[in-house]
Amino acid sequence: MGDDPVMIRLDDGTVIPSILYYHRVAPGISPHVGVSPELFFRQMEFLKKIGLQGVSMEEGMKARDTRNTCIITFDDGYLDNYECAAPILEQFGFHATIFCVSSRLGKVTDWSADPLWGGVPLMDGGEIRELKGKGFEIGSHTRTHCDLGLLSREDPLQARREIFDSRTELEDLLGSEVTSFCYPYGSYTDESVQWVREAGYRNARSVRHARIGRIYDLFLLPCRPVSGKLSFIRFMGYAMMFKSGA
Ligand SMILES: [Zn+2]
Repeated sequence: MGDDPVMIRLDDGTVIPSILYYHRVAPGISPHVGVSPELFFRQMEFLKKIGLQGVSMEEGMKARDTRNTCIITFDDGYLDNYECAAPILEQFGFHATIFCVSSRLGKVTDWSADPLWGGVPLMDGGEIRELKGKGFEIGSHTRTHCDLGLLSREDPLQARREIFDSRTELEDLLGSEVTSFCYPYGSYTDESVQWVREAGYRNARSVRHARIGRIYDLFLLPCRPVSGKLSFIRFMGYAMMFKSGA
């Protein structure tokens, strides 16, 4: 039924769990870019309390019990994901997908002039491998955090490389398949979505808000963004909505 209230229904009729979308988790962080470890703990605790299991994209795609499952994603691969978020997720027996920028591992963010977003440390290869070994999923967020909407028009070959080579680079590092992709800035063109399919990914997340009753493409999955600007009450509202399937 098209009007059956589920969060994410795909064009082939499949239903998948709802997706939370985070950036950073660190003490004293600006609410624009992330949440404090205390707030993140309370959020994960609430998911657990109402019976939602936090999983990676990869696990979520196979989930049978979509109303008791919640996909957790992080963009950019910040070092604080390793230091602050992962230990909390582990306490609750949760996993997540972290979308990494393959040519910037162990470096700092260099794609934003905004002091809130620029110069922030990113996880290195060892940290990424360690998280993968603990059941977290590493997805691709291109090689350089490029704007695929722009680049695929200006330099299609380079845009293709960002999509294809980031997968290969991460697979070489991890020694296993990389199947999830996320568009930097939520920016893409029809061509870039097609290249993501051709590169061998199995799903991709956008930054669009999930809307009830819509039908989604597996390569343009919607989500619910979480930053420090989202009140705990609204977070609880999201979680209850996921749980009810609405
Ligand atoms: Zn990003």
